Amino acid sequence: MTLQIYNTLSRTKEEFRPIEPGKVSMYVCGPTVYDYIHIGNSRPLIFFDTVRRYLEYVGYEVNYVVNFTDVDDKLIKRSLERGVPVPELANTFIDAYLQDARALGAEKALHPRVTENIDEIVAFIAGLVEKGAAYESGGDVFFRTKAFPKYGQLSHKNLDELQHGIRIDVDERKESPHDFVLWKAAKPGEIRWPSPWGEGRPGWHIECSAMAAKYLGETIDIHGGGEDLEFPHHECEAAQSEALTGKPLARYWMHNRYLNIAGEKMSKSLGNGLTVHNILQSAKPEAVRFVILSAHYRSPINFGDESLRQGEAGIERINNSYGNLIHRLRILTEAKTGWQPFTAEKLDAQLAEALQTAGLADEERGAETAEAEALRESALALKRFGERMDDDFNTPDAITALFDLTAATNKYLLVDHASIDVLQALKRAFERMDAVLGLLMNAADTGEDAEIERLIEERQEARRSRNFGRADEIRDELAGRGILLEDTAQGVRWRRK
Ligand SMILES: [Zn+2]
Repeated sequence: MTLQIYNTLSRTKEEFRPIEPGKVSMYVCGPTVYDYIHIGNSRPLIFFDTVRRYLEYVGYEVNYVVNFTDVDDKLIKRSLERGVPVPELANTFIDAYLQDARALGAEKALHPRVTENIDEIVAFIAGLVEKGAAYESGGDVFFRTKAFPKYGQLSHKNLDELQHGIRIDVDERKESPHDFVLWKAAKPGEIRWPSPWGEGRPGWHIECSAMAAKYLGETIDIHGGGEDLEFPHHECEAAQSEALTGKPLARYWMHNRYLNIAGEKMSKSLGNGLTVHNILQSAKPEAVRFVILSAHYRSPINFGDESLRQGEAGIERINNSYGNLIHRLRILTEAKTGWQPFTAEKLDAQLAEALQTAGLADEERGAETAEAEALRESALALKRFGERMDDDFNTPDAITALFDLTAATNKYLLVDHASIDVLQALKRAFERMDAVLGLLMNAADTGEDAEIERLIEERQEARRSRNFGRADEIRDELAGRGILLEDTAQGVRWRRK
């Protein structure tokens, strides 16, 4: 099966075919940078980055753009309240966003800003005016929805239906109540740029059309965002772009559902401060990723103390298994001098071979060795992982495949004499899935693992010289840091509590 994506435009799952073979252009509406991002916004941040990771996993080169809205009504209001200029306020929260995104493992994107693209936005609007798809009125410029009969295509609404839902619009500057603003005339004291229609600033929708065209081209492969953006924001983007270029803005429109806040404790302790920044003070970022990815993106998520606790338990299970695997591998490789690591190609060939035997019925396989079983199970887990991700990015089932790999690894680690080949293959399977899911903790990066290993070695030394006092001291010290030691036939194994 090839990758299937649920397209909001057609309301069906479609086979994914990029415009250019091997390449994917992807645009996701980013944050308005007037405050820390709310935990609800971590869902599109983590999910669409996972889409990007998976597209790269299957071999695409991905151009991924997430814009920063660094000028709008909210920024202007907050800047006046705080007496801080808009650009300074925006920079503060762009830095905060990047810090959160890095912590959550979702930092790989190009981030253009509205204020750096004013010329392109003005040119875009001028093009629409020239085509009769926009008009100036009192210093503002509006999009003429009547000039674009396909308005409503994305949200599956028609103008007459929309009319019923709309309050009587008293804005007499507009030809139709559906028309929306492209350019806003500056009010006294507001940040402003020159334009053919007088000084002002862009409306919200136009920035995405202009930046998607500039950074990715007239038609992009995937456009994503939260379900709240489908109408009017994405409808307006689609209308502006197609009215100007005559081509559709995007081939696949993807929308993630809301994240609901559950759990009284969390609401009580954090109140309105349910920001990623606050939550990461006490929660592990991998646990947040686990919660977000443990639901399909088109289903709602309840985020709260209970789901976070489950997330912590989930990543502990995965990281313990992986940690034990790495430990076993280290003991074996250190014992074998001159041993060379296996190449990725060799490991992939091994997994492919294991997959072939997986197709055989139990009786045909005969008495299987622990090695063959571990290889077969890891190859099957990888296969299921790909199949489930191909089905409209089914991340909860992908996590289940990772748990299957965890179970196969734990079982294999019980053997007395483990094979380096098999351990390497298991490690590679873990790392491949994790390149997409991002649930392994980078303890090694902090140097903590190396220090733990050093203390364990010192403890062994103390025991050899019958200095049991010192040996116990080290065990207690490690226990105090949440590290549990286990004496096994293969040496000392450790894991985090
Ligand atoms: Zn947008």
